[in-house]
Parts: sequence; C-alpha cells; structure tokens
Amino acid sequence: MKIGATLADVDPMQIDCSVRFDGVGGLSDHISALKEMVVFPLLYPEVFERFKIQPPRGCLFYGPPGTGKTLVARALANECSQGERRIAFFMRKGADCLSKWAGESERQLRLLFDQAYQMRPSIIFFDEIDGLAPVRSSEQDQIHSSIVSTLLALMDGLDSRGEIVVIGATNRLDSIDPALRRPGRFDREFLFSLPNQEARKEIFKIHTRDWTPKPLDMFLEELAEKCVGYCGADIKSLCAEAALCALRRRYPQIYKSSEKLQIDVASIRITAKDFAMAMQKTVPASQRAVASPGRALSSVSKPLLENTLARILQALQRVFPHAEFALQKDQQPDSVNHVLRNDTVDSDEESPSIFEEKPTHKMPSREKEKFLSFSRNAYYQPTSCRPRFLLVGEPGYGQASHLAPAVIHALEKFPVYALDLPVLFVTATSPEETCAQLMREAQRTAPSIIYIPHIHLWWEAVGATLKATFTTLLHNIPAFAPVLLLATSDVCHADLPTETDGSIYFRQ
Ligand code: ATP
Repeated sequence: MKIGATLADVDPMQIDCSVRFDGVGGLSDHISALKEMVVFPLLYPEVFERFKIQPPRGCLFYGPPGTGKTLVARALANECSQGERRIAFFMRKGADCLSKWAGESERQLRLLFDQAYQMRPSIIFFDEIDGLAPVRSSEQDQIHSSIVSTLLALMDGLDSRGEIVVIGATNRLDSIDPALRRPGRFDREFLFSLPNQEARKEIFKIHTRDWTPKPLDMFLEELAEKCVGYCGADIKSLCAEAALCALRRRYPQIYKSSEKLQIDVASIRITAKDFAMAMQKTVPASQRAVASPGRALSSVSKPLLENTLARILQALQRVFPHAEFALQKDQQPDSVNHVLRNDTVDSDEESPSIFEEKPTHKMPSREKEKFLSFSRNAYYQPTSCRPRFLLVGEPGYGQASHLAPAVIHALEKFPVYALDLPVLFVTATSPEETCAQLMREAQRTAPSIIYIPHIHLWWEAVGATLKATFTTLLHNIPAFAPVLLLATSDVCHADLPTETDGSIYFRQ
C-alpha cells in the first residue's frame, strides 16, 4: 500500500459523494442490473453462496460521449459505500496508464490491481479503455499487446468473490480487444444510448431539481420533446446556459463592469425564452458526431404532413406491433421495456417445481411435463414476422426528408441504425464491414430499426458484395426478431429493381 500511495495516480479517487443513483436519469434498467451484479454480492453474499453464483468480474459501458457512463460508475461506488462499508473507487483514463518506459505501464497496472485488492471491496474504472486495450493487430506495436495481455492476466487472476469489479467505458465497442469481452472478463455489456424523450425529461428534472421555484412538469415535457439528440451532458449544459441567459437578461451591466456588483439573486427569473435561447446555442452531441436521423415535423411541414404521418404510424403498427407500445405516451419507460424485452412472466405465481423432491404417496407419478413453455407469452407479446416498411412517394413529396425522420422520431425508444450511403462509404472500414457491424448491433439491441433512405439509389450505388452481404445478414435475422427495416423510395414499389423486392420483400 505504501508503494501504491507514493504513486500519485494509484491513489483511490476522491469520490464525489453527492452522486447517487437518483441523480442518474433514464437508466433504470442499467442501474438495477448493476445492483444485481455489484451491490448484491456485497450485501447478500449468502444468496450467491447458496446457488454458487459467481458474480461477474467486469462489465463494459459503451455508447456516445456524455451519456452518463462515468456518472453511473461514480454513483455505483457511492451507493455501495453506505454506512460503515466503504468501497474504494479507482478511476483511470486508458491512455493515462501508458508510459514511454518499457514495462512501466504493466507495472502500474499490477500496482493498481494490488492496491485494489488490499483495499477490497473496490471498483476499478477504466475510462476510455480503448486507449489501453485497443484491438491487437499485427501492425500494432508489441507494447500494446503486452499491456493487453497483462490486463487479461490480472483480470483472470481476480478471485471470484466479487470483491473487485472492473468497469471499462468506451465510445466504440468494436475498438477494444475482443479477448476482453470473453466470459469471465468484461462479460456484461451495457449500452448507453442517447436518452429518449422520457429519459430526457427525467434528466431535465434532475438538473433543475434544486432550482426554486421548480419548472413546471408540462414545460419539462415540452423541452424533452424538442431536445432530440441531446445527451445527458448536453441537457446539463442547456440548463446551465438557460440560467446564464436569465442572468444576462436581468443584469446586463455585470458584463461591462469589472467590479463585483450587488445583485439580487431572487430577481433572476428563468423563462421559457431563456431555454429557447440556450437551445440555439447548444449543438447536441448527436449532431456533433453523427446526425441522428430522427426529427419531428417542423412547424412549416406539420400542417401539410401531419395527417399522412398519422396514417403511416397507424399502418406501421400493423406491420410492427412493437411500435404500438412505443407510441403510447402515458407508458412508463420501464414498463415498455419490460413488455418488450421480457420473455417470461415475472410474477411469483405457482408453476411446477423443477427440483428433485422426495415422492409422497399422494403425489401421482409425474408424467413428462414441459417446463419452459409459457404459452401465454406469445399471446401477450407483440409479434411480427420480418417487419419491413417502405415509404414511397414521388420525388419531392417529403418521404425521406420529412416523413421518415418523423417516423423515427415517434419511435425514438428504439435504437436506429442508418445504413445510408455516407455512413457506409465515409468510414475507415470497408462498407461491407460497417454494414455487418450495424446490422449485428441492430439484432443485438432489438427491438430496433434499420433505416435505408432512398433505397432506389442505394441499390444502384452499392456494389455486388455489399448487396450480397446485406441480403444475407437480413435473412440471418430470425423471422420473428423485432428488427424493423424502414426504407424510403422515390420510385413506386412495382418499379423498384426486382432484386430489391425479391430479396427484401417489402409488403405493400
Ligand atoms: P465520456 O464518454 O465522454 O466519458 P460519459 O458517458 O462518461 O462521457 P459523463 O461524464 O458520465 O459522460 O456525463 C457527463 C455529465 O452529463 C454528467 O456529469 C452528468 O451531469 C450529465 N449526465 C449524463 N448523463 C446523465 C443522466 N443519464 N442523468 C443525469 N445526468 C447525466
């Protein structure tokens, strides 16, 4: 410990004790999963002992920047450190662990794990782990692969009592060494996607909860609706900017004077206008990185296309019944996910025992029973068979520019994977690889949407290999997996190249 303490960057991080799970908005699924894997093994070791469950040693957080990965890790450390129990929280940036001296980075890593072990229970959090453990390749220098091997060895060496949990965060899952994602290492993966409308509202609530007076619920609802593509960090800065706008409006003189002026804080009132101003100034993360294809109808196009959009959404619900749940406004986000994701019924109701029990005379001998056929499920679950939806209109009717983005906006709860030409061709990887990655991701995060705008141009522009890759992957998605293929076309259904229709089968 002494050696560790002398190294400035091996000290356990000073935890910001104010962050708790209630300060994290819209990530309740992740929070309960993390509780299960990190907090419960520490609180209820007897349950884990009884069923011989080995708590996972590591998990990966991935998703766009500013979506709360660091925040959740901090909150987790604080939640675990209640009362007497303290959990040491070590936080490292991937690239900080690298050193120019051969062997030094490995030594630092070993020290870190040593110290975490001595101060157990502890959480080691590697932010931007892709800097530390990038995909190993032949061209990459020896040093990197040696660091990755050290990390793997250290993680394999952790004992299985769940006393040390390693969390890695990255913006891109495909940029870290696949060996790290094997069971026993970072075997749980959490996607931190951009928040949807409900999540945004919750985050707004969190960042304005200490304001007096508090903003109206209705107002926050409207804000959340408008702020498509904002991540948690954007929402936080939007709230701060709105407060500054109000200050600027009330006391413009403080910008001119270099002395501290006497101001009356109570007289600064934040209005809707301040938020509108702040929104003009903030560029949401999604537009800085990749533009999100979802957009609500603008005030100009709304009167024209509103009815068409409503008809489209109605038709879509028939093809893709999952949409129905997403479109119900009054549903809690959790309950929606619950209905959509859970395959089994969660109640504790009577079901046949699955254990060997001593037979009693009264019990008739058991016939061969089926245990896992919960026949109710298929009935209660929305079901769709290869959902595909094509928006067709003459050029300039707004199908790709207004309607499809509005449909995606309405179905914001589902992750969207745009397979348009810029996405496929303006990347370092080959278009086939990008296509495969996106489609696999779509399948993994189902219910989800694969979006191809202007499919008539798309089909002409892409090469034969990409076409083959695309159709094979599309066929490989199980028939009943809720992955919606949404496309737009300027050419009517009958005139689309027969291959497009033949291999993708859009229904009219
Ligand atoms: P990076 O990938 O850049 O490290 P990150 O995902 O770790 O980003 P954080 O540092 O956790 O992002 O988020 C930045 C800030 O944004 C947080 O301190 C928090 O105030 C706010 N924030 C982000 N997501 C949420 C959320 N879900 N609820 C409340 N606040 C959030």
